[in-house]
Amino acid sequence: MGFKFGEKSEANLSGVHPDLVKVVRQALLISPIDFSVWEGVRSTRQQAEYFVTGASKRILSRHLTGHAVDLYAFVGGKTRTDEGLYPQIAEAMRLASIDAGVPIVWGAAWRRTLDKSPSAVKAMEAYRFEQRVMGKKPFNDMVHFELPEKLYPADAAVLAKIDALVRQDISDIKDERGLA
Ligand SMILES: [Zn+2]
Repeated sequence: MGFKFGEKSEANLSGVHPDLVKVVRQALLISPIDFSVWEGVRSTRQQAEYFVTGASKRILSRHLTGHAVDLYAFVGGKTRTDEGLYPQIAEAMRLASIDAGVPIVWGAAWRRTLDKSPSAVKAMEAYRFEQRVMGKKPFNDMVHFELPEKLYPADAAVLAKIDALVRQDISDIKDERGLA
């Protein structure tokens, strides 16, 4: 407990919405698992890359506008992707979000903010259950946290510009790789 971000995490927080930064910093102080900030603000080219490879489902990721972060568990001097670690980080984010009064959506529990659930695990279970009922596969992005779009909308003009840039990058990438 009481971990501190390294230089890279600090750099990755630059340009991220201050409310999200506040929650992430508070979460690190109370998290039982150390974590680092991998992606804060994402370039349109990187977003296009993720879209083409299927790693991202949307053109307009919240990362592009500084409304999302990816947090990776860091244990024993290594970045770890064991799924069991992530609900613990999400729980720290949930508590920090309540403390800061900033609602946060977790990438393993979409359609709700963490503060509305009694625990991060319960939020994830509820989301998975809903997906099952709808006959859909859950979209599981455990490292991802974002500010809810309704309360923190991005500027429409900025979004339109970014949308055009990402689409151009997608078409460039497809051309470069000879994809249809
Ligand atoms: Zn993400």
